[in-house]
Amino acid sequence: MELNILGVTYKVIEVDVVDKREFKFGEIDFVTNEIRIDKNLPTTLKNQTLVHEILHAVFQLLGMEKEESEVQSLATALHQVFTAQTIFSSC
Ligand SMILES: [Zn+2]
Repeated sequence: MELNILGVTYKVIEVDVVDKREFKFGEIDFVTNEIRIDKNLPTTLKNQTLVHEILHAVFQLLGMEKEESEVQSLATALHQVFTAQTIFSSC
């Protein structure tokens, strides 16, 4: 899957292991513009992780420094709101 985030294309890839050195649900690579998500996560957690990595991209592109805990809080909140109901009809 490819995502257009503020005009930049990011490739979303599901992988067996995100980082060999430490366990991570996902990560974003600002050099290759790849978002890697652990393919073994349950769907809800996978989607929440994707929102988290999208927020990293948005904040990086806007030049806004955010703590990991701020990114995670927003990701949890936005994922919940946007999955609890249909807000936008498909276009
Ligand atoms: Zn993060």
